[in-house]
Amino acid sequence: MAGHSTNGLSRRQFGFLAGAAAVAGAGSLATPSIVRAANAPRVVIVGGGPGGATAARYIAKDAGEALDVTLIEANPRYTTCFFSNLYLGGLRSFDSITHGYDALEANYGISFVNARASAVERDAQQVVLADGSRVAYDRLIIAPGVDVIHESVPGYSKEAEEIMPHAWKAGPQTKLLKERFDALENGQQIIIVAPPNPYRCPPGPYERASMFAHVLKARGHTASRIIILDYKPKFSKQALFAEGWEEFYPGMIEWYGPDVHGGIQGVDPETGTVETDFDTFTGALVNVIPAQKAGMIARDAGLADDTGYCPIDGASMRSAFDDNIFILGDASIAGAMPKSAFAANSQAKVAAMNVRGDLVGSKVFPARYTNTCWSLIETDNAVKVGGQYAPGAEGIASTSTFISQIHEPADLRKANTEEAAGWYQGITADIFGA
Ligand code: FAD
Repeated sequence: MAGHSTNGLSRRQFGFLAGAAAVAGAGSLATPSIVRAANAPRVVIVGGGPGGATAARYIAKDAGEALDVTLIEANPRYTTCFFSNLYLGGLRSFDSITHGYDALEANYGISFVNARASAVERDAQQVVLADGSRVAYDRLIIAPGVDVIHESVPGYSKEAEEIMPHAWKAGPQTKLLKERFDALENGQQIIIVAPPNPYRCPPGPYERASMFAHVLKARGHTASRIIILDYKPKFSKQALFAEGWEEFYPGMIEWYGPDVHGGIQGVDPETGTVETDFDTFTGALVNVIPAQKAGMIARDAGLADDTGYCPIDGASMRSAFDDNIFILGDASIAGAMPKSAFAANSQAKVAAMNVRGDLVGSKVFPARYTNTCWSLIETDNAVKVGGQYAPGAEGIASTSTFISQIHEPADLRKANTEEAAGWYQGITADIFGA
């Protein structure tokens, strides 16, 4: 890594006309309660999810007026993918999984710019917004999440997602999937096409199947079936899900890996079918979750490798390709860490510390990361997997792990559900500052 001296930053800032304040027209820049020094170094963050918004909050909170922090986010509000399966299962309202950025502006003096970033000019250290205006940065954090690769499933497309929703980005897709699900009648079949690794939230498709089954059971739709056609030969917490499905939804959920279906040949939105080597499956509802890659802004900026994701230095979350840029969350190649909100939030704190180290010379401690992913199988039954992580020879390495065990007592599984609910409340407060 090159040195990260702050020498020359002020010269660049003074010479630059199109700073965060100059893009006021592009978003709602509220009057911050913290007054920044006019020449404070500029930190710009693209993406207001668990990665980006956490980083923005921690940098603004810990640096006070020493840094000028701008958060650029395409949507005015953020709906969490995490707990969106509980919304599908009727256990959460859509409102309860949707969060605003007001507290970040009001309490931390972060400039929130509600706009899509269309490019990063790395040589000039500027982010270009959709309307052509530019935001200069001294350090840039990119946390755009993932893009789904429609064409990874033959027959699937941007248009087809209106008929076979993926709901792997929360918002209108999640509502559409719930509408389609709620319209099903007893005996109608649901198909979930589960993606190849690596993808966001490894246990997510199987928690989703559990939540669908929970609702079907409650509705008395005992003749309905959920078929999971998987690109992978095995999946996260497989033995735990298999045990839970047998206990709570016997005969209702069928999972087929490639050694059974022989390969997924494609989908046909017109007929609601999924073609495999083994058979053609027809669903009244087909939830296609395609392969994924880092959000476009990161790839277009030349920050991804041929995996489609962005390599980083595990000690800092700094891009392997640009010392002035940090990549967080799902878009990054974070070694042993899964693509989860918990992981993105944890990575954000390491990046925030390093950004402050770069720009205001604050002390940088060794990076430590953590993650836990809870999955709800039934209302009072959740399982979990997690671990601790540290920089290793090849990126971020796992230093300890834990996972729920089969045959655990019901009260332990119930305690997990309470822990998960507490985590949701805690992490959303940590991300959005409200
Ligand atoms: P995102 O959350 O995707 O945020 C990226 C943000 O960047 C978005 O708001 C987007 O609008 C914005 N953006 C993108 N490009 C631009 C641009 N060019 N300009 C401006 N803004 C832009 N994780 C858990 O920890 N626990 C769970 O229980 C869990 N359950 C899940 C269940 C499901 C069904 C799914 C799909 C995911 C689940 N996850 C869970 C995973 C979690 O949602 C993601 O890992 C997490 O959201 C990643 O955070 P991120 O900040 O990297 O990206």
